Amino acid sequence: MFPQIPFLRVNWLVSSFLIGTLFLSVTAVPLYLWFFGIDWFQIALFFAMLAACGFSITLGYHRLFSHLTFQAHWIVRFFTVIFGAGAFENSVVLWSFEHRSHHKHVDHDDDPYCITKGLFYAHMGWLMFKLKPLPAFDNVADLKKDPLLVWQDRYDIGKSPISDCPTSGSDMSGSPQSRITPSFRKRTIPLGAFTRPR
Ligand SMILES: [Zn+2]
Repeated sequence: MFPQIPFLRVNWLVSSFLIGTLFLSVTAVPLYLWFFGIDWFQIALFFAMLAACGFSITLGYHRLFSHLTFQAHWIVRFFTVIFGAGAFENSVVLWSFEHRSHHKHVDHDDDPYCITKGLFYAHMGWLMFKLKPLPAFDNVADLKKDPLLVWQDRYDIGKSPISDCPTSGSDMSGSPQSRITPSFRKRTIPLGAFTRPR
C-alpha cells in the first residue's frame, strides 16, 4: 500500500505517539470543545505549560545542557528537567547527544536530523524511522556525571543506554577527543525514498 515507507525501520512507539496526538488534536479536541466548552483556567494552563515546556527545551535542553552556554541554580536545572520531560522530547542526555552530533556533523550523514535528507526527514522522519544499532553516546560524558540528569534519564521512556556508556570522552562534540564510533556509523543508513538525490 505504501511501498516507499521503510516499515522495517519504523520506530512504532514514537510514530504512534506523533500520529496519535495529531489524530486526537483534530478529532477529540474539537469534540470536547463542542460538547463541554473551555474556561479561562484551561486557557491559562495551556499557555503556562507551553511556556514552561518550551523554555525548558530552548533554554534548558539546548543552551544550558547541550551547549553549556551558562550555569544555573539547581532550581532552574530541576525546573527544566521536569518540564523538558513534559515536552516529550526524551531525556537531556539523549537530546544533547543527538544535538551535539548534529552540530558536529551538520548537513552530513552523521547529522541525526540532516536537512539534506529532506524537510520531512529533518523534522519528523528521523524520529519515526530510528535506525539501529544505537550510537555510543560518546559526546555527553559531562552530562552522565550529573546526578539530576542520570535520574531523569532513568525514568524516561526513550532513555539513552546510559549505563553502557563510556565514562570518559569529550564534553562537547567539537573537541578533538570526540569521536564517532563504528557502531554509530552503522546507524546512518540512507533512507531510500526519504532521501533526496545529492
Ligand atoms: Zn544548538
